[in-house]
Amino acid sequence: MLPHRRVYRTKSEWPDAGSLRALGETVFGFPMKLPSMAHDENGDTAHQSAAALKETFATIGNETRAEILRILGEDPYAELSFSELRSRMGEDIDSGQFNYHLKQLRGQFVDRTDDGYTLRPEGVTLYRLIRAGSFTQELHLEPFGAGFDCYFCEAAVEARYETGVFELVCPGCAYQYGKARLPPSAIDPDEPHAALSLIDQYLRQNILALSGGVCPFCVNALDVGFVPGEDVWVESAAELDVLVEYSCDHCGNGHYLSVGLSLLYESSLISFFEDHGVDVTSIPHWNLEFAITNDAVTVRETDPWEVSLTVSRDDERLVIVVDDDLTVLESYREAG
Ligand SMILES: [Zn+2]
Ligand SMILES: [Zn+2]
Repeated sequence: MLPHRRVYRTKSEWPDAGSLRALGETVFGFPMKLPSMAHDENGDTAHQSAAALKETFATIGNETRAEILRILGEDPYAELSFSELRSRMGEDIDSGQFNYHLKQLRGQFVDRTDDGYTLRPEGVTLYRLIRAGSFTQELHLEPFGAGFDCYFCEAAVEARYETGVFELVCPGCAYQYGKARLPPSAIDPDEPHAALSLIDQYLRQNILALSGGVCPFCVNALDVGFVPGEDVWVESAAELDVLVEYSCDHCGNGHYLSVGLSLLYESSLISFFEDHGVDVTSIPHWNLEFAITNDAVTVRETDPWEVSLTVSRDDERLVIVVDDDLTVLESYREAG
């Protein structure tokens, strides 16, 4: 893939080293693979120690090193020689000093090739997160209407954004329709509604990965299974009598989805709606009642689980039956 646009930033627009250091205190909501998460000799990624994380953030919490990241990030496909890179620094820096800081970044965020210095993929991810304003801008919004009523209590659902966290919540019953960590730049405060369809698609990448059985954080295979809603401690879960649980024993990531969301990308479901003039891949998923409530779900067996989802459109019904691990046993249409 080629870069489609280049916007150069001046040094004054780049966060200072203190803000970058604050990264260490920020919980990452984005899938960022840090260098020291690499597999060890046993093939384990296991648990990254707090000390290793601290060290990583300390590496970038320095004016010179932050500036090197910015310069290389402006031109991620170029390889800059030592002297070229040094000459692009805002101020004159001693060659030995510069070399020292460059060395600190090498292997973690910067690579040296025969032709010069370039950002490693981790460096590019870091540059983009910082440039998107994930850690250096602030935005507080008054809650605004999400444009639909709660399926459980009929109150108007609200969208909220505060300190990097977006939520779609019912003020009546507190049901949470969606939650995501987003940089402030994702939302235009003058037109916050415009962000809703973007956020829907953003959240769908997780739904798609989970329903495909892949961890969206570490790309390992997930354990998948049904769980009764009353056994799930997550707020709102008790509204649903059954949920699908996805857990990753590799990185500890875990999620619950409704049965409808788990089957949102099932091909027979997409084509059923397509045949009735509805594109379920582009409507915000919180507007698809079958994907939020369990009204369309029937638990046929619990040991082992066998569950069906029935959706209707015009004078036709689609029934999808899945087993214990969400494999589709059958999918058929009928009149009604
Ligand atoms: Zn409600
Ligand atoms: Zn994982």
